[in-house]
Amino acid sequence: GKMKSSRSSLTYFTEDMKESSRDFFEIEMNLRKGLELNQFTLYYQPQISAVNGQIEGFEALVRWNHPEIGLVPPNVFIPLAESTGFIVPLGEWIIKESIKKLQELHHNGMEEMIISVNISPRQFIHENLPHVIEHTLEQYEVSPDKLCLEITESVAMEENKLVIERLNLFSEKGIQISVDDFGTGFSAFVYLQEYPVNEIKIDREFIRLLTQNKKSEALVKTIIDLAENLDLSVIAEGVETKEQLSILRDLGCQRFQGYLISKPIPSEELNMWMNSFEFSYFKQ
Ligand code: C2E
Ligand code: MG
Ligand code: MG
Ligand code: MG
Repeated sequence: GKMKSSRSSLTYFTEDMKESSRDFFEIEMNLRKGLELNQFTLYYQPQISAVNGQIEGFEALVRWNHPEIGLVPPNVFIPLAESTGFIVPLGEWIIKESIKKLQELHHNGMEEMIISVNISPRQFIHENLPHVIEHTLEQYEVSPDKLCLEITESVAMEENKLVIERLNLFSEKGIQISVDDFGTGFSAFVYLQEYPVNEIKIDREFIRLLTQNKKSEALVKTIIDLAENLDLSVIAEGVETKEQLSILRDLGCQRFQGYLISKPIPSEELNMWMNSFEFSYFKQ
């Protein structure tokens, strides 16, 4: 096969993946084997209150810890997993791990902590999803309102009966819904008034441009006002500088995540990170 034991094989790996169907099946096979062999792992990125600097929750982000290649980022394998259907078993594992982590956090005295889990389109419409989520929440005795599902606009916008039914079902159970990468798709805002969505997550690209031109500030302001007017909470992703955070706070953004606070953290290092976290920005 084409998998080599050098770091550079990652590029090789991704390019081949798109081009050759033989490699495509080989990688698909490796993904499935990887799940059996426990090679997947979740990292957690803190979500911080822009008002007082408190940790409010975490976004779970999956990585594939390949024995030869090393840590493979999700952008490399999620699209493939989505197209082959492997996202379904992988997604179940991700949901279980995230809910287990919620139980651990809640047991350690952080009862209000929320975890956001990315749900890809194919996973969202899969018949087993509601059962898997409800069953796992019950199994670990985690309150549904501490779980947030991040879906993309393309899913939210779909005028699909199943999508609407499912959003309503999750909402009735108290599970939160966030619209990820908000503003990057064809934003047909109409779904925001029709669907039981709780949060919009402003895409990193808007945040990146924030300090570069006034127009992007106006755009972000418009998104924040839109959220406020619809009674939705709003979070900014990809906040890397104090300057970006400062603008976001002035614009009324409630929560944020990004490298300014921390990169996604390996599960086993999370407690240590929380114990040492103190964000000086809010101490002034
Ligand atoms: P996303 O859900 O929009 O996640 C945000 C991505 O931005 C993450 O990349 C995160 O590490 C990165 N990020 C966070 N803060 C910053 C920052 O300040 N600067 C920069 N430059 N980047 C930042 P990651 O973990 O590589 O994930 C990429 C995408 O892969 C995610 O985008 C999501 O669409 C998908 N993904 C990740 N984990 C999962 C998962 O468990 N299930 C599914 N279905 N998709 C996932
Ligand atoms: Mg996300
Ligand atoms: Mg995002
Ligand atoms: Mg994104």
